[in-house]
Amino acid sequence: MCRIAIVGGGQAGLPLALGLLDKGYQVTVVTNRTPDDVRTGRVMSSQCMFDSSLQFERNLGLDQWETQCPPVEGIGFTVPHSEIPHEKVIDWSARLNNYAQAVDQRIKMPFWMEQFASCGGNLEIRDVGIAELEQLTASHELVILAGGKGEIVRLLERDASRSPYDKPQRALALTYVHGMLPVPEYSRVSFNLIPGVGEYFVFPALTLSGPCDIMVFEGVSGGAMDGWREVRTAQEHLAYSKYILKTFLPWEAARCEQIELTDENGTLAGCFAPVVRKPVLTLPSGRQVLGLGDAVVTNDPLTGQGSNNATKACKVYYEAILARGDKPFTAEWMNDTFDRFWKYSQYVVEWTNSLLIPPKPHILSLLGAAQKLPALASTIASAFNHPPVLFPWWRDSDACEAYIHVLATRNAQTAHSQIVEKSGF
Ligand SMILES: Cc1cc2nc3c(=O)[nH]c(=O)nc-3n(C[C@H](O)[C@H](O)[C@H](O)COP(=O)(O)OP(=O)(O)OC[C@H]3O[C@@H](n4cnc5c(N)ncnc54)[C@H](O)[C@@H]3O)c2cc1C
Repeated sequence: MCRIAIVGGGQAGLPLALGLLDKGYQVTVVTNRTPDDVRTGRVMSSQCMFDSSLQFERNLGLDQWETQCPPVEGIGFTVPHSEIPHEKVIDWSARLNNYAQAVDQRIKMPFWMEQFASCGGNLEIRDVGIAELEQLTASHELVILAGGKGEIVRLLERDASRSPYDKPQRALALTYVHGMLPVPEYSRVSFNLIPGVGEYFVFPALTLSGPCDIMVFEGVSGGAMDGWREVRTAQEHLAYSKYILKTFLPWEAARCEQIELTDENGTLAGCFAPVVRKPVLTLPSGRQVLGLGDAVVTNDPLTGQGSNNATKACKVYYEAILARGDKPFTAEWMNDTFDRFWKYSQYVVEWTNSLLIPPKPHILSLLGAAQKLPALASTIASAFNHPPVLFPWWRDSDACEAYIHVLATRNAQTAHSQIVEKSGF
């Protein structure tokens, strides 16, 4: 029987472990936190997952919270006026084709770990270093390193050609709350871009105490939204969250007059540099380990893609492992497997990284044009599920102009035929 070891019990490692276990593989998961550590610990993410990632979980029977978790039905995008309070320079929203959902990882991961152990998986709780990787590679046909942002993943070499930043680009913070007023019409990720200051987005989710809203702050380093280091307590964190909204986004502040933290661990503040690493680690023994999830592709949370990427990588690896049958998992197979995933994820990385610098003029025109062109707004919204739909025009200003022109012409034609139809001419 093929033995597979996965280091890391997170969004990338656990669905792979459960999927392979179900197919008859002998699977070991080694992770450094018990289910209770995770359940009673601090929030880790905002983990909004879009339809194609959710579908993979459904396919594996891992969608246990689908009926309890509030749906996220659309994407809203707003840029406030820099001088006139309450004025918006850009303001649009569009429905997603299928809803997204965010289930607190403190609910998901402990449940999946316990499910894995009760279905016959070998769950070991310990910290893995080089010595443990050596042991695992000696006793398993394949070892996968899905250690997220843990120290251990630094063993994978940084790929400088795919990593334009070597420092954190945003001061990140999460605030999980109850009592936020909903937006009209349909639920959404309400994304606000405050030039020079940072970004704020918020959406409904499911946490330990039931439905909630997750506030995500992305402060430009050293800017006016980068004050989290001064915050000492959970209540101060909540107060600073409200202060930011009152200062820069009054329409969001108006939704938050009655908010309370979901729990004392419902806050997080920190930062990390986005990075892409080489996927294969060669140990001193000469044996190899394959990286998965954040261990190889860590994006800034700005576009909400990390859990989605981890899940999509998991799907690619899962299918490649099944297709490999009895053949050995060579370094060549490992690199090919990652390359298959990179064909997709390169667009996620490029899109996310492009938003960490002031938007190029064609991107700004595009985001503005979406206000008048519902088809464009819908396409941008659908990019959260599948970022490659943005290319080539996200990258190329000529292609972008041509694309906007086509949509504007189509929009004008539709408007014209509606007038003709309604007026009876
Ligand atoms: C503020 C913030 C907001 C985010 N919002 C979103 C969002 O809205 N949508 C989205 O898609 N993504 C989001 N993400 C990203 C997302 O949470 C991650 O990309 C995703 O969890 C990565 O999954 P993973 O399994 O690779 O890593 P993780 O989920 O981090 O799992 C890694 C696991 O490895 C274990 N581990 C680490 N080191 C060791 C070791 N040495 N030995 C044994 N075990 C070890 C850890 O305990 C953990 O269980 C956000 C992230 C942050 C920080």
